[in-house]
Amino acid sequence: MGFGDADGYDLVVVDAMHKANYASRICHSCRPNCEAKVTAVDGQYQIGIYAVRPIEYGEEIAFDYNSVTESKEEYEASVCLCGSQVCRGSYLNLTGEGAFQKVLKDWHGILDRHHLLLGACKLNFVSEEDYIDLGRAGLGSCLLGGLPGWLIAYSTRLVRFINFERTKLPEEILRHNLEEKGKHFADISIEVEKSDAEVQAEGVYNQRLQNLALTLDKVRYVMRCVFGDPKKAPPPLERLSPEAAVSFLWKAEGSLVDELIQCMAPHMDDSMLNDLKSKIRAHDPSGSDDIQKELRRSLIWLRDEVRNLPCTYKCRHDAAADLIHIYAHTKCFFRVKVGLIIILFFLLLLFWFGNSSNLKL
Ligand SMILES: [Zn+2]
Repeated sequence: MGFGDADGYDLVVVDAMHKANYASRICHSCRPNCEAKVTAVDGQYQIGIYAVRPIEYGEEIAFDYNSVTESKEEYEASVCLCGSQVCRGSYLNLTGEGAFQKVLKDWHGILDRHHLLLGACKLNFVSEEDYIDLGRAGLGSCLLGGLPGWLIAYSTRLVRFINFERTKLPEEILRHNLEEKGKHFADISIEVEKSDAEVQAEGVYNQRLQNLALTLDKVRYVMRCVFGDPKKAPPPLERLSPEAAVSFLWKAEGSLVDELIQCMAPHMDDSMLNDLKSKIRAHDPSGSDDIQKELRRSLIWLRDEVRNLPCTYKCRHDAAADLIHIYAHTKCFFRVKVGLIIILFFLLLLFWFGNSSNLKL
């Protein structure tokens, strides 16, 4: 994985098993004298090892691998023997660990992700500002070229979240590390801990961007297989218009209300059921000036109507009423385009959790 030229990230895997020089032997240290930087020189990726402080004659050269893994086994096997006073005990960081996931869990749950993707699908357009933010994160034409607008717009929203997480994460990691170390050590240097938290947050930031780059590459492949040209892939989510929401919830065959009636029919006597059906028809929200508002009003009416029906041990009308309540207070309904579920899976899940561990170097 590299970055640094005008075209931005592309997928480059550096594997010292196949081609390497002496630098592949440089060990990790939690208190290193060098750092590794990836740059592009004359159009070629270069990994440079740069000193971060004066190095004594005979001193071993080391850098902080600062790599993140998603595999617990790999993490546990990566014992660090650097021997420095600030040794973290492992040369890998585990992304699954609480502190690293804290910002993600608090600010980027499944609803947040759907919200971002739905917004990007609706817009299906990339602004100048979007390209600037993507470029700053190292995502350029290498990776984004030929992708549809909605996907680039979604990537921009993810990059903005990753930037936001980068600002929030050091304090979360610091708090976690202080708590953990406080159990075992009496003399903890806050300054060292602060700089460690920064280094680890930077590692998570890099890992997120790498995951995004990998995911986009995979999604491009799937879209090419399905649509020929990835640019032709339509947005996978579509917001329902108020009329479509009424059809989906109230009127169509297989709608929420239709299924509800079918479930209730065996447990109610005919006159009661017919009475309910005709009342439901009378509460049809279509044709109103504000369909969305009227739909909510009708759902709330139905909720109370159902809740007041007598319950039996086989028929829990109160539970159905709770479900209708949730529908009534849902602000936005959307539909997933058939055939795009696999792409949706990649975009909503794989990006954060599914890519197998990829070391930075
Ligand atoms: Zn160490």
